Parts: sequence; structure tokens; C-alpha cells
Amino acid sequence: MTIQRTFSIIKPDATNRNLTGAINAKIEAAGLRIVAQKRVHMTKKQAETFYGVHAGKPFFDELVSFMTSAPVVVQVLEGENAIAKYREVMGATNPANAEEGTIRKEFALSIGENSVHGSDAEETAKIEIAQWFSGNEIVG
Ligand code: ATP
Ligand code: MG
Repeated sequence: MTIQRTFSIIKPDATNRNLTGAINAKIEAAGLRIVAQKRVHMTKKQAETFYGVHAGKPFFDELVSFMTSAPVVVQVLEGENAIAKYREVMGATNPANAEEGTIRKEFALSIGENSVHGSDAEETAKIEIAQWFSGNEIVG
């Protein structure tokens, strides 16, 4: 049994539509624990740092502008195989390809406005968590 932590963002399209609670319910129903959570309005610099790996891609400017357009909820989720488990719960990046019952199938508007972010590996999870939370803000 591997207990992991992953980093999650409830994105502006979801906070705008008051879906924080509905998304949290899906996270918890999947057995993941929300061990840290706060609502923030990202600055351009913070969003560019966070999505640095996508710098130069055609959708980068649109992504940064979307992520800074309204508040988001940043979270740390904990559980067995949390990284892969949360990506399953989120569904495919493009909601048109997402499985039934996933967050993106149910709530996402488009490939860009796709309601949630989740880390894709242990190393990125560590880096992403450290950008937004100090150790004593995470209570497992
Ligand atoms: P996330 O990293 O947000 O969990 P992901 O790993 O499924 O999602 P990535 O390929 O890492 O997707 O892309 C990061 C984000 O950039 C996507 O979630 C989406 O919001 C945006 N994005 C990706 N591809 C496109 C695209 N073709 N057009 C517009 N936005 C895109
Ligand atoms: Mg990604």
C-alpha cells in the first residue's frame, strides 16, 4: 500500500459556477482525503511558474489568462496511489474523451476550461505542493 500526496486545483470555470463542493464530494467519494485547501487568485507570475513546462506551447497564453481570470481552490489530496487515482477521478484532459462519472465528463466546458488540475507524477506533485503550501498547512 503506497500512501501518496497529489496536488489539485479547482479551476476558474468551476469556482465561477460554484462547483467547489460538488467536486470535493467526488474527490472524497473516491477515497481521497483533502489534507490542505485554500482559495487563491493566482497572479500572472504564479500561473506562468506553475505551468512552466507548457511555456511556448500554442495554448500557453490562453492557459495563463484563464487560470488568473478568477479565484481557484488549491488542494493537497492524500490516499492510496493518490496521483493515479485522482487522474482517474478527473478524467481525460478533453472532456469529450472523459469517462462517465469523472469530474471532467460531468463539469468541464472544454479542453481548456476543464475544471480541475492534478499532478502527473511524484516529482511534479512535490514541486507543485511546495509552490502553494508550507509544511504546517498540510494536516494529514
Ligand atoms: P492538468 O495538468 O491541468 O491536470 P492535464 O495533465 O490533463 O491537465 P496538460 O496536457 O498538462 O493536461 O495541460 C495542462 C492544461 O492546459 C490542461 O488541463 C488544459 O487546461 C490546458 N490545455 C491543454 N491542452 C490544451 C489545448 N489544446 N487547448 C487549450 N488548453 C489546453
Ligand atoms: Mg498536466
